[in-house]
Amino acid sequence: MAFLVMSCNNSKENKEQNNSEASMNDTENPLLAESTLPYFAPNFKLLKNEHFKPAIVAGIEQQKAAVEEIANNPEDPTFENTVLALEKSGEQLNRALQVFNALGSANTNDTIQALDEEMAPRLAAQKDAIYLNEKLFQRFKTLYEKRQSLDLDSESLKLLENYYEDFEIAGANLSAEDKEQLKKYNAQLATLTTKFGKTLLAANNDGAVTFTEKEQLSGVSEDVLQSRKNEKGEGWTIPLQNTTQQPLLASMDNRDSRQKLFESAWYRADGGDHDTRGIVKEIVELRAKKAQLLGFNNYAEWSLQKTMAKNPANVNKFFSGLIPAATAKAQSEAGEIQKMIASKGGDFTLEPWDWNYYAEMVRKAKYDLDENQIKPYFEMYTVLEKGVFYAAEKLYGITFKERKDIPVYHEDMRVYELFEENGDALGLFYVDYFARPSKRGGAWMSNFVTQSKLYNKKPVIYNVCNFPKPSEGKPALLTYDEVETMFHEFGHALHGFFADQEYPSLSGTAVARDFVEFPSQFNENWALYPEVLKNYAVHYKTGEPIPQELIDKIKKSGTFNQGYSLTENLASSNLDMQWHTISADKDIEDVNGFEKEALHKTHLDVVHAVPPRYRSTYFAHIFSGGYAAGYYSYLWTEMLHHDAYNWFENHGGLTRENGQRFRDMILSRGNTQDLEKMYKKWRGSDPKIEPMLKARGLK
Ligand SMILES: [Zn+2]
Repeated sequence: MAFLVMSCNNSKENKEQNNSEASMNDTENPLLAESTLPYFAPNFKLLKNEHFKPAIVAGIEQQKAAVEEIANNPEDPTFENTVLALEKSGEQLNRALQVFNALGSANTNDTIQALDEEMAPRLAAQKDAIYLNEKLFQRFKTLYEKRQSLDLDSESLKLLENYYEDFEIAGANLSAEDKEQLKKYNAQLATLTTKFGKTLLAANNDGAVTFTEKEQLSGVSEDVLQSRKNEKGEGWTIPLQNTTQQPLLASMDNRDSRQKLFESAWYRADGGDHDTRGIVKEIVELRAKKAQLLGFNNYAEWSLQKTMAKNPANVNKFFSGLIPAATAKAQSEAGEIQKMIASKGGDFTLEPWDWNYYAEMVRKAKYDLDENQIKPYFEMYTVLEKGVFYAAEKLYGITFKERKDIPVYHEDMRVYELFEENGDALGLFYVDYFARPSKRGGAWMSNFVTQSKLYNKKPVIYNVCNFPKPSEGKPALLTYDEVETMFHEFGHALHGFFADQEYPSLSGTAVARDFVEFPSQFNENWALYPEVLKNYAVHYKTGEPIPQELIDKIKKSGTFNQGYSLTENLASSNLDMQWHTISADKDIEDVNGFEKEALHKTHLDVVHAVPPRYRSTYFAHIFSGGYAAGYYSYLWTEMLHHDAYNWFENHGGLTRENGQRFRDMILSRGNTQDLEKMYKKWRGSDPKIEPMLKARGLK
């Protein structure tokens, strides 16, 4: 049994893992029953590592049995015995997974990691057992075809449609023969995407560049040099980051060294021992065939069905609106950098490996922002309580009260209870802000308990960040980026708190990828709103408000290098869309040639010194991550949030009335409406790109 050989430092845990599945003393496992705490909050006081496996296994078994029962029900399908029954089948499993996933990301250990690996294939198989279950699908199909005569309320109708579409997307509507073919494609794709990830990892490792003379690394800080020293003491090795541009290029004085590091990044996985070109070709061709089997012209058409953008044509139209402004600005930035090169005595044409080095000089001259000057005005809990919470109170009328009686999984956490304007309870909010080794990088929001009227549940939500923990007795002071992150994650939280759905699978943040980052990015706008800023940005020692001069610097620094950054992003977003709009009969002869042509025909190669953020050969988001035909989402939600904020600016800004309208028409709607129509109804028009261009300083 595999799990017995997993490394585990705690012998007691090893012994308990040895128990056969789901045979724990169930009465003590807090995940096997509904929590008795307020808001059904997880009882971390009772929770132990050994509780996860039996609870997850029990959840899988329970759902399996429920699905079989629905599929084999001799009665004719009804909304209740089929749609609602399937919706309810995952309750136990979700309860266990919500807590398990939270700890797996924010407070993991060997036991959780081993269990995660063990459970991943079983959970994937569970999904197939539902969506490729022929009898179950036929029941949904019967209901779907007569959906208008079922007399369903709009949310129940949406639930039926949503499940039906998921069945369809998974291929449930195919003939038995085609289903077998689809399974083969899926299995091949799973193997290929894993292979891409592994090959890229090896190529990344191989691409690390070693410098033997200190002069080659002139300009790099002593700290970095120290940490990059070879074990044998024979030089310094610089590992590659995922992106084309490498952070150290901004400080390396030696032009040859810059070129060497850049080219190592640029040519990784393009030839040599760890070549991904063949894998890229196979993946895109297989995806095109899969889409064709499912009845679509190309993969993007298939995968964009449930998004706000809806189809590749809309995405491409969005790109073409941005490309001229982005490249024009990048062109002028290139001119400025070329001048900087000349002023430093350089006599050469700007190349991609020079960009960040000279852009850094331009930044220092024109946009310099000294974090150490700013941080004393951003004490972490002051930012949270007097900034993030304050803005939410002004907009939505909600209030916050700390609760010290709710159990947490780590002592660094705080818990707040949220109330409506009229005093009604709204939900529980946990913050877990400090970095530690047991936490993965980044910042995120999720639910311990999802809002649903079906189960009479209010949301229990958490935000996790990775702010550096100060030493004992010192305040936690944030950079402006971190302040924005806090507002961002709370924007997701608001989307979850204001959820007002009957069904958990349509609740709150369960929306398409090109919409889910909209409420969070939108909430960032309030960080610099004068009334909010005035309330929270005060010196932690003196109580003095942040000087206007610093605010201006923060604002200005936001427009630095935006031509470059938008162009490099568009280049990769565009590559993603072009790879996924090829038809099934297309034979890719040359991956690099395709890439070159893709950039050329969209005019994304006009500024020679601005390469794509990721080249195809190392574009993990789309070839091993979950972003195939979805990388555009980052820019799409950026458009939405600036456009939305523009509406607020034109209607009086931070007011209760504006907030309520946004809550009623957007934040409370979860996934119950067509996202495009929902947005348009609130905004009064389709989203426009102009506010985004203006915010980036491109207009
Ligand atoms: Zn986010």
